Amino acid sequence: MNICDLAPEYIRAIQPYQPGKPISELAREMGLDDRAIIKLASNENPLGPSPLALKAMAQMLEGVSLYPDGSGFELKAALSKRYGISSDKIVLGNGSNDVLELAARVFLKPGASAVYSQHAFAVYPLVTQGVGASGIKVPALKYGHDLDAMLDAITPETRVVFIANPNNPTGTLLAAGDLLQFLQRVSPDVLVVLDEAYNEYLPDTAKADSITWLNRFPNLLITRTFSKAYGLAGIRVGFGLVNEEVAGLMNRVRQPFNVNSIGMVAAVAALGDVEFVKRSYALNWTGMMQVTTGLRRLSIEYIPSYGNFISFRLKRGKAGAIYQSLLRQGVIVRPIGIYEMPEHLRVTIGLESQNQKFLQSLEIALGESD
Ligand SMILES: *Cc1c(COP(=O)(O)O)cnc(C)c1O
Repeated sequence: MNICDLAPEYIRAIQPYQPGKPISELAREMGLDDRAIIKLASNENPLGPSPLALKAMAQMLEGVSLYPDGSGFELKAALSKRYGISSDKIVLGNGSNDVLELAARVFLKPGASAVYSQHAFAVYPLVTQGVGASGIKVPALKYGHDLDAMLDAITPETRVVFIANPNNPTGTLLAAGDLLQFLQRVSPDVLVVLDEAYNEYLPDTAKADSITWLNRFPNLLITRTFSKAYGLAGIRVGFGLVNEEVAGLMNRVRQPFNVNSIGMVAAVAALGDVEFVKRSYALNWTGMMQVTTGLRRLSIEYIPSYGNFISFRLKRGKAGAIYQSLLRQGVIVRPIGIYEMPEHLRVTIGLESQNQKFLQSLEIALGESD
């Protein structure tokens, strides 16, 4: 008997998450110089971290022999002030993925189910399956969430609905009014997880007033992250905003020191670096224009995106070869076959020079594959 055979069937059946290929790995495989490679595969901020966060982290280094403040007092106070919400409604996570998992651990179990959309963020099925619950995947509508169909898919056993807005990898955005209507119609005994990882990249006119909805819907959990517009993906800080009783349950299952001390000071500093977020936002939208213009010039179809990435479609059966050709040219993008989009690739919006290198390399790759 192999001990692995004794692990629950639902654990053994988990498909491992495939992260974007690290620069160092491609450098080893292709014998390339690290500096000749650009990674546009994980929706990271091409500007790097907020400079204020960098300074705060450097100052914190000497303190790392001590455990972090497990209550996250300072970071919660900063978030509380920024969002006008009391600290007891904030749950800190080791990235927002951690918060998604906490929600699953609190509300799901074998026999229960979670509803999410086809082409939605890969972590939803992962955290669902990780606790032995079943996932109900609802067919997408024009690559986005079909909220009516999701509502219909809810069963008496459903405890969680995951909604990514904007969604990754499709970049689709739901209108605030449609989301609000969904919240009004969904049963209050289903937790609605509204994943707003890319919120800071939205123009103000496209942002939902989601935080104000928390007062009306005790079953709403909003998740945000420092990984994207704040440029801190490597230090893993995210947070959830939710009714204080739900927050209390999530805090009970969370590891006491799930957010590290360097991450917390970085997040506080980054939150205050309004100028950096503005710069990230502006760079993203000029870059998005550059990339979409380039894709159109190459006659490549893409899904209009509200995030810091865009997914584009290749001719049937060509995406794998194009991905490989881009790798050989030192450009890492993301294949999204696991999202049931085998003909698409996803590229993160980079610096102007990186976008240009991507478009030039793509043109070469297309020439090779014809
Ligand atoms: C990137 C991303 C996150 C952020 O994950 P972290 O754990 O905070 O780094 C969450 N949701 C979606 C949809 C994402 O694309």
